[in-house]
Order: sequence, then structure tokens, then C-alpha cells
Amino acid sequence: MAEEQRDPGGVRGVREGAQDVREPRGRSVRPEEAHAWEALVATARRTVSDGLVVGTSGNVSVRVEDTVLVTPSGVPYDRLAPDDVTGVDLDGRQVLGTLVPTSELPMHLAVYRATDAGAVVHTHAVHATAVSTLVPELPAIHYMAAALGGAVRVAPYATYGTDELAENMLHALADRSACLLQNHGTLTYGTTLDQAYDRTAQLEWMCRLWLTASSVPGLSPALLSEAQMAEAGERLRGYGQRG
Ligand SMILES: [Zn+2]
Repeated sequence: MAEEQRDPGGVRGVREGAQDVREPRGRSVRPEEAHAWEALVATARRTVSDGLVVGTSGNVSVRVEDTVLVTPSGVPYDRLAPDDVTGVDLDGRQVLGTLVPTSELPMHLAVYRATDAGAVVHTHAVHATAVSTLVPELPAIHYMAAALGGAVRVAPYATYGTDELAENMLHALADRSACLLQNHGTLTYGTTLDQAYDRTAQLEWMCRLWLTASSVPGLSPALLSEAQMAEAGERLRGYGQRG
């Protein structure tokens, strides 16, 4: 990816008079979209700094009304600037920006069409991806799975960026806010970017926990029953709703 010319003036949807060879696509950026973009870039950078993503191998999106802002394809997150806002409508038509949206757009859009998600995070986090190659469902190693809706399923493998992968993912995501993608990575959603991010971090941590516990020779980890998981889920639903 060639270095882009940056406009130091910040977000401007209309580039009249700007010495920028790129033509704006679609309409101008609204203030709430500029704000959401800033949060999206911060979240994308966090996936790298926290070790959940190497290079540009993940992607993040956030919904602002009927527009979905997404990380562009192949641009390192530390190079993303305020005027790189990239957005599509729910049918995938680009309405903001000139950079090409992530190749995993079909997965992101499938989540927004099927759920009340406000944000989606996809990574290739190493422990989660390792687990996706071993089992069809993350064993109930910890009650925090209840915070994701229950035992985390693994979506069967399909080529990245395809509608088939998006479909497999949606099935695995039924009644859950997280799933694994076989031989690929993670997908989580939440009402906010922070919630979607935290769910990814929790999922990666649980996968690491299971791999660690499972790797002791001659022993296998105790797992929680469905009843234990359901009871934890009840408690978690009350958590954080005080006041
Ligand atoms: Zn991926």
C-alpha cells in the first residue's frame, strides 16, 4: 500500500480545493461518523498492541445509523488518519471514502443485518485460532463463556471474504455474541466498540486457558455443566446494571 497524502486539516467530506488526487466517493462525513471513526481506529490499533492481531490481519467495524464504518483493506492501522473514513451502507455499497473496505465485509454486514450489533471485531488471535482447529466448540472451561451467550461454537471453514463464510459464521453465532472461525480466527460483536473488543479479549483468554489446562500430560480439565453455565449467565445478566 503506497503512502497516502494526508490532509492535516482533519475530517472533511468534501475536498474542494484540496491538493488530493483522490476523489471523494459518496456523501460528506457527518460529525458522529467522524467521532465513531476515531474510536474505530483506536480499537483497531488496540487489537495490534494487545497482540490479538499481527499487521492488518483483522478488521473492525462500527454502525452509525444505516452506515457501517469499516477498516480499509491492507492499510496498517497506525497509518489510518481522520480523513480515511471508509463507510458502506447495509448492502455493502461504499458511501464514504476512497479506500477499499476490508475483504471481510460480508461477515460484518451479515452480523449487522441479523443482530442489533453496534460494532464488530474480527481477529486472528493465536490461541483462539488454535482452538478453532481442534474442536467444533470451545469446551466449557470457564463461566465467562456465559457472558458470550454460552459455549462458543466454531464456524466450519470457508474461504475468507466469501458469503459462505459469512453464512457459516451466522449459524455459529446464533444466540451468541462470539464465535470462532475454523482455521481462521474470531468474530465478536457488541453494542459498542469497547464491548465487542472486550469480548474478543475474553474469548482469546478463555481459549488460552483451555489450551493451557489441556496440555498437562495425563490430566484433562474439569468442565462446567450446562446448568452451571446457565446459572453464571443469570448472574452475569444482573452484573453492571446497578443504577
Ligand atoms: Zn480474517
